[in-house]
Amino acid sequence: MDSLMPRTVILGAAGFIGSHLVDRLLAHGHEVVGVDSFVTGVRENIAHLEGEGSFSLLEQDVTVHIDVEGPVDNVVNLASPASPVHYMQLPIATLEAGSLGTRNALGLARAKNARFLQASTSEVYGDPLEHPQTEEYRGNVNPIGPRSVYDEGKRFGEALVMAYHRALGVDTRIARIFNTYGPRMRFDDGRVVPAFVSQALRGQPLTVFGDGSQTRSFCFVLDMVRGLEKLLESSEHMPVNLGNPTEHTILEFAGMVQRLAGISLEIECLPLPTDDPRLRRPDIERARRLLHWQPEVSLEEGLRDTIEWFRKRV
Ligand code: NAD
Ligand code: UDP
Repeated sequence: MDSLMPRTVILGAAGFIGSHLVDRLLAHGHEVVGVDSFVTGVRENIAHLEGEGSFSLLEQDVTVHIDVEGPVDNVVNLASPASPVHYMQLPIATLEAGSLGTRNALGLARAKNARFLQASTSEVYGDPLEHPQTEEYRGNVNPIGPRSVYDEGKRFGEALVMAYHRALGVDTRIARIFNTYGPRMRFDDGRVVPAFVSQALRGQPLTVFGDGSQTRSFCFVLDMVRGLEKLLESSEHMPVNLGNPTEHTILEFAGMVQRLAGISLEIECLPLPTDDPRLRRPDIERARRLLHWQPEVSLEEGLRDTIEWFRKRV
């Protein structure tokens, strides 16, 4: 192996965002060691890497000690259940991924003297009282609600990352990722994009939670992994929001999915889940200024690609 090739460990490599990041870093000359327990990730996401000499996979849970042989230049920690349906089904495992998993990931970076990137989330802002959300906003999280296993796990993760940086000098970065969508999301993960797209392709009613007036801002996954790579290459230690600032209500989004899928469907209104954030839109000025990054793919373009990917698999 060429010793000038950066060697990057990606925790959560078989997941939706993780597998796209693996592809991007391999294309840019990294050797990648993927680590995944497949708790929510799927083998199909990395099946195309079979026989790829620069990629290897360690199948393990990151909440137990992570042992990677040889030098490591970068550690990227994406290993956590991420969809509300998954993390509410896996409450303890989600808290452990945010806490023990992040500690082990940081321990690996420290032992290897590697750069570290933590995938945090817009959920650290909870149901926000400031809009749009800047990195200075400290959030409005219910510490004992059903989403707290994820939100508080991620907040603890950020605290741990900053402690390893300040107390131990680990070269850390924190990405606050906002809603991201695209090919390789699981049909059944319950997030709104795969839910509406698979319902539309099957001719089923679209399940809108609440009155659909809550907002989200959707970022295409290829924009997201471009941002993550830029953040990894930067020397910014404070959190950076990564997401698309174009905001839509969920009802508008339901209309867009129907139009792009070429079908008109009933809307089935279901109760709004507890603590579901009413509004969400990233302020990405820090990412623009520090990373010279901003999303390039419009929701319409990204959604067309996503619908085509799902159509082949329904
Ligand atoms: P995903 O579920 O597709 O990917 C997570 C991956 O981590 C999966 O492959 C899963 O098997 C693996 N994993 C989970 N716990 C593990 C453990 N204990 N040990 C080993 N592997 C484990 O989810 P995603 O959407 O790709 O999210 C990736 C990361 O980005 C997560 O940390 C998530 O919190 C963060 N994030 C995602 C979004 C989004 O909109 N997709 C938004 C904010 C933050
Ligand atoms: N949502 C919905 N119908 C669904 C799934 C989700 O109306 O079938 C709503 C959900 O209540 C939330 C938004 O869509 O307001 C985004 O939900 P998602 O689970 O994708 O991610 P979140 O941003 O809540 O983490």
